[in-house]
Amino acid sequence: MDIEKIRRDFPILDRQINGRPLIYLDNTATSQTPRQVVDEISRMYTSAKANVHRGVHTLSQEATDAQEATRRAVARYINAPAPEQVIFTRGTTEAINLVASSYGRLLENGDEIILTVMEHHSNIVPWQLLGSRKRIMLRVVPVNARGELDLNVYASLFNERTRLVAMCHVSNVLGTVNPVKSMIAEAHSRGVPVLIDGAQASPHMRIDVQDLDADFYAFSAHKMYGPTGVGVLYGKKHLLKMMPPYQGGGEMIAHVSFEGTTYAELPFKFEAGTPDFVGIAALRKALEYIDSIGIEDIERHEVALMRHTQERMLAEIPGLKIYGNAADKSPVISFNIEGEHHYDVGLLLDKLGVAVRTGHHCAQPLMKALGIEGCVRASFGVYNTMAEADAFVDALVRVSTMLR
Ligand code: PMP
Repeated sequence: MDIEKIRRDFPILDRQINGRPLIYLDNTATSQTPRQVVDEISRMYTSAKANVHRGVHTLSQEATDAQEATRRAVARYINAPAPEQVIFTRGTTEAINLVASSYGRLLENGDEIILTVMEHHSNIVPWQLLGSRKRIMLRVVPVNARGELDLNVYASLFNERTRLVAMCHVSNVLGTVNPVKSMIAEAHSRGVPVLIDGAQASPHMRIDVQDLDADFYAFSAHKMYGPTGVGVLYGKKHLLKMMPPYQGGGEMIAHVSFEGTTYAELPFKFEAGTPDFVGIAALRKALEYIDSIGIEDIERHEVALMRHTQERMLAEIPGLKIYGNAADKSPVISFNIEGEHHYDVGLLLDKLGVAVRTGHHCAQPLMKALGIEGCVRASFGVYNTMAEADAFVDALVRVSTMLR
């Protein structure tokens, strides 16, 4: 992997922050965007902008072709059986809300959903909203000290009222890569479908929805070098077909009259209104960008950065506590320094040019389980270098000395 060449594709990496070169380690929140993606957004706005699926004119057809080319590209990327099983949303959050609203309408009082304690709020709150309209019970899988799910408890949570498992592929705090394939098999052996929140998996590893046998799989483009405002919900056809529409409006209908309306076929049934077709077109460029490097090489590089950084942190920072030590861990390091507030650590790192995230990371139930209010999180992307990893640890040593 030619990191210097890759870095030249990301103009933002040339920025100085507080007089120092930016070291961007907030990739879990959002990744940076290469020129190839930005150029496609610019190309669409300057030469190919017209609303999709509505016009016979050339521009509209070109915009429609660009959108549908991305749908096919996403289907290939995640090995979906057919493009119509790829539904464009605003992001992971909207994809999960779609399932909660629509599949949720098929649930009845007393039904149960299994979640895990490491879920992002976007895979908790939609189910609670559903539960505020019906009596839906949420069952929660806990984690062990390493930040791995307790699979015995998981197996024990199923009963005849279990209607869905909704869980993350990778934790945005602990970095734990969950054994989703075997957990899906376990759920299927009891006839229960599974929704996977893939927001933190899709940027780092190959996703094969058929190999996983996932019933739903959700992810966001902006975390995988793509544009903001676009996400994907993949679903199995028989489930998507039996689910009612999520939102009403243009694009999602077959015929409308005041007496009654019939709905469009998949995927359009779930895509009301004008989509972010510019962003959708640009998502294809992000997938091509990842493919041009190779997702396996990206993952190897990022995990090597994470392991090296962790080792140095543990050796050199007194009072360091790292949250998440799973055998299979994605390139995320969440930590605290004993006696110091995570905001202070984050603010001082920013003064030294290092961008990390601080706070509860939209995972307050996990924070409670860990017995903390928040932590600092450093997370790696394809363009990060060993030199940056070392500069981050050096900066952290300085910060911890300053705070003491
Ligand atoms: N799930 C996980 C695991 C995440 O990390 C995030 C983003 N931090 C989301 C869901 C929500 O993604 P978005 O904000 O792009 O909808």
